[in-house]
Amino acid sequence: MTGARTADPPYLASLRAGYDRAFEATVVATPPEGVVLSQSLFYPVGGGQEADHGTLVTPDGIRVAVVDVRRMSGAVVHRLEKGGLVRFRIGMTVRGEIDWARRYTHMRLHTAQHLLSALAFDRYGLRTSEAAMSGHGGYLDLEGMLDGEEPIRRLEEEANSRYFTQPVQVESAMVSRAEFEAMPGRSSAKSLPQGISSVRLVLIEGIDRCPCGGTHVLSTGEVGRVRVFRDPKGKVASTRLSFELLEEREGPSSPP
Ligand SMILES: [Zn+2]
Repeated sequence: MTGARTADPPYLASLRAGYDRAFEATVVATPPEGVVLSQSLFYPVGGGQEADHGTLVTPDGIRVAVVDVRRMSGAVVHRLEKGGLVRFRIGMTVRGEIDWARRYTHMRLHTAQHLLSALAFDRYGLRTSEAAMSGHGGYLDLEGMLDGEEPIRRLEEEANSRYFTQPVQVESAMVSRAEFEAMPGRSSAKSLPQGISSVRLVLIEGIDRCPCGGTHVLSTGEVGRVRVFRDPKGKVASTRLSFELLEEREGPSSPP
C-alpha cells in the first residue's frame, strides 16, 4: 500500500464525533483489499467491536456498499461490494455515509459492556479478560467464578435500574501512559500494547475508567434495558456473561 495512511478518526478525540455519520475524503490508495481514504468515520473492526458498514459515493453519484473495514498498518481499508473497487481512483473526492442503525447499536453495546465490566469488578472483584459484541448482544469473560444465578441477577438489576435507563455521563480523555499506570481501577497497564505513549480512556461518571478506542454513547441512558445471563461456553475458571439489548433505539436524528 506504499505507506498510505488515514488520519486519526475524530471520534477518538471526542465521543460526540461518534454521532457523525457522513463525511468527505480523498482517495489515497486502492489496494486489492479496498479503498483507503485520507480520513474516515468508518470504524475498523477491533477491540471487540465490529466494523461499520455503509456507502461510499463517487463524484458521479454512484453508490458503492462498504461491507467491511480493517486497519492495515496505519491505513483504514474500506472493503467494497463485489466489483466496486473499479469506481475509485486516487485523488478522487468521495462522500462516506455510515450505516447509522448498525453504528448506534455498536455504541450502545460497547457502553453496556464497559458498565457491566465495571459493576462486575466493583461488586465482585472480577476483572474482564476479554469482551466482544455483535448483532444486538455481546459477552464478557470474567477472571474468576461467579457462583449461582443470584449475583448475575443482581448485576443486571443494578445495571438497568441505576445506569442503563438513567443518564450517567460518558466521556473520553487522553492521558499519558505513566498517568494511566498510576490510576487504580479494573484495567491494568499490562493490557496496553508495548510502545504506546498515550492512552485514550472512556470514562463513565462515578463508576468506570477504561482504555478503549471504540465508539460509545454520551449517556448510559441511551443503552436502554439489557438482559444479562451466564453463557456456558466460558473458559475454565472464568465466567462468561452474555448480554443483549432489549430495546430498539434510533438515537438522535442528527449529531448532538
Ligand atoms: Zn469501549
